[in-house]
Amino acid sequence: MIVFITGTNRGLGLEFAKQYLERGENVIATCRNPKNASKLHELKKIFADKLTILKLEVRDNEEIGEVYEQVKNKFGKIDILINNAGIRSGGDADSYTIGNLYKEDLGKVFEVNSIAPVLISETFLDLVEKGDNPKIINITSALGSIGRKSFVFRYSYCASKSALNMLSKIMSIELKNKGIIVIPLHPGHVQTDLGGYQAPLVPKQSIGGMIKVIDSLKLEDSGRYLSWDGTEIPW
Ligand code: NDP
Repeated sequence: MIVFITGTNRGLGLEFAKQYLERGENVIATCRNPKNASKLHELKKIFADKLTILKLEVRDNEEIGEVYEQVKNKFGKIDILINNAGIRSGGDADSYTIGNLYKEDLGKVFEVNSIAPVLISETFLDLVEKGDNPKIINITSALGSIGRKSFVFRYSYCASKSALNMLSKIMSIELKNKGIIVIPLHPGHVQTDLGGYQAPLVPKQSIGGMIKVIDSLKLEDSGRYLSWDGTEIPW
């Protein structure tokens, strides 16, 4: 299987790469600064033939096009496309409360968390179409659930994930007749730089769970809003 992942130099993206490599898949691990991606290079020493590391800043359309050409030439298809790269704030100041909402933060968080995943999926679509039982997995958050919202938290982050959920849903409907599964998938609250180190889950558990969910997906599951343990989240 060929698995393409964004944001793999640390956190959940790195663990996705590791676990897919450990079970023998080909992994295209992208990150915006490969030279400094020491943990990916450690994986490369073990999985030399299976791991391809490519530079990708997900907001850079030109770079998306360049990576597309490289993947097309080397692999010709993608079975699982995982839009994992994400940020919790987009500037020096977070948009937490009224009176403290920042255009720079709101714009950048939407660009990375909502817009980049759909543009990347659009660019790579013909490679995904050639995949076996192909899937586009957009890593979202339960914080994007409008139905569950009951407390004030980062405006930009929560809304960017709600937008990603809607974009995933629309895409799931549009791509169903091509046999492509699209879901927004919540990793749980996990110990990473973004999740904080007080979180209840470690990356190994979260990614193990998400890989099981991804393995189990059928076309009729496309467009569901799922959590790492397979449970459904209210929109
Ligand atoms: P981390 O902060 O640990 O890692 C984020 C990754 O995304 C890094 O590799 C980072 O690269 C990359 N990234 C950020 N911006 C860009 C960009 N513009 N272009 C390319 N790569 C970029 O976060 P997590 O691993 O925890 O998060 C992964 C995903 O899971 C995110 O979408 C997040 O919203 C989601 N999530 C995480 C939760 C958690 O509890 N951890 C809970 C719910 C959702 P760099 O090192 O270059 O910054």
